[in-house]
Amino acid sequence: MVSARSGARIASGRVSAYTIPTDKPESDGTATWDSTTIVIVELTADGITGLGYSYANVAAAHAAEELVKREILNGDPFDIPALHSAMDRLVRNWGRPGVVSSAISAIDTSLWDLKARLLEEPLLALLGKARDEIQAYGSGGFTSYSEKELVDQLTGWAEHGFECVKMKIGTHPEQDVSRVAAVQKALKGRAQLYVDANGAYDRQQALHKSEQFGDLGVTWFEELVTSDDRIGLHFLVERSPAVMKIAAGEYNYTLDDARLLIEAQAVDVLQTDVTRCGGVSNFIKIGDLCEICHYPYSAHTAPSIHATLCCSILPAMNVEYFHDHVRIEHMLFDGAITAVNGKLKPDLSRHGLGLELKRSDAEKFQVLSSAMSLRPSGEPPRPGSHTTCPWLPTPWRPWRSTGRHHRGSRFESRAGTSAHGCLHAMIHRAAACFEGRRQRGCMPGHPAGRPAHAVHKALARLHKRRLAARVSAPILRRPAAAQATP
Ligand SMILES: [Mg+2]
Repeated sequence: MVSARSGARIASGRVSAYTIPTDKPESDGTATWDSTTIVIVELTADGITGLGYSYANVAAAHAAEELVKREILNGDPFDIPALHSAMDRLVRNWGRPGVVSSAISAIDTSLWDLKARLLEEPLLALLGKARDEIQAYGSGGFTSYSEKELVDQLTGWAEHGFECVKMKIGTHPEQDVSRVAAVQKALKGRAQLYVDANGAYDRQQALHKSEQFGDLGVTWFEELVTSDDRIGLHFLVERSPAVMKIAAGEYNYTLDDARLLIEAQAVDVLQTDVTRCGGVSNFIKIGDLCEICHYPYSAHTAPSIHATLCCSILPAMNVEYFHDHVRIEHMLFDGAITAVNGKLKPDLSRHGLGLELKRSDAEKFQVLSSAMSLRPSGEPPRPGSHTTCPWLPTPWRPWRSTGRHHRGSRFESRAGTSAHGCLHAMIHRAAACFEGRRQRGCMPGHPAGRPAHAVHKALARLHKRRLAARVSAPILRRPAAAQATP
């Protein structure tokens, strides 16, 4: 079957972004938010489409759009290492960690999903199973919640069979101990309690809190200090109660970020997020690093991807079943995973990751969408073009709408391009082509300038008869960006 598919080429791609309001205002120790943006990358080869996504700023969608155009289109979906390293090389001067890494992550995950779908297998079968299911822990417990909301959410998970639940702390350090004590009392030992400070404390504060939380039976303390402070994390690994695991790593944007945390002995559990670290390829590599170095591995959020990956990686211990992402994935994807008795079990009856975008449901949240495809020659669209125009053989520069129709054009597009612009680019290109042939001796006997002039005039006549509209109208079908619901 591999040989039957080995000639496949990635013929088209789509990058889209959706901003979904939270169900309530949310905050943790160092951030407050009221919406979450998901960037989705779809890649198609042989009529089969793979899907990957990242939770990131919409800027990641713009980076992904450029990456797909320049390095992914026309690539072989089975050569993921080559495509991934080409992306790494291209972005060297873009700012590789952060937003750009989230863009690479969505593309890489889409490539893995596509490969599995081309092979007509679930991604877990392609990667190979280490287990059938993985433990999930309920995660939310925002500092913006009242104590009642906090207790209700965490005890709700415990009642549904979750063995571990996590709450946020750090916004009001003076309230942390009483809120943790209230949750522990309500849990009545039905689930282990994890806490996450999101880097809100300094080292001495974190040490003091770890002793207090240790007395309350907390078994996981995440990002006590900022993850940038590897020396501080190591200090706390050495001094915190032995029953409490120190966890960090959700900001591993590169392989080296993970290596540095391990080299510094800055964690008891290494976390990583497939939507930030560079996608499935790097998530697996970091899992291998954990196995080599004898560290347990924990997946940060995005449960519908991580469930599959953590069932394939030996040192994986759990997946964060994050309230926001569980909600978003069920809103946007058919096939989103649901925890049963606190466990995530990938559906092996579906190919790839088993996710299908529910476009009509997602549309109202769309803030960006860009479709790209190979040109008729088989070459990818040239960098710098904003909208794919498959009829244009060379790069062209669509002008942005000024709000007025350009003279002579009735076909201004919503994306800011116009049929008028396409037509003129075609005229000039055709004229230049004839002129080039004449100069190379392919068209002897034509006086200089005549062919280009003739073509120009002929195409201009077509324009007058508005035949051009029928040629270039499909170019304009780029979906308009919708505003996020506040
Ligand atoms: Mg965290």
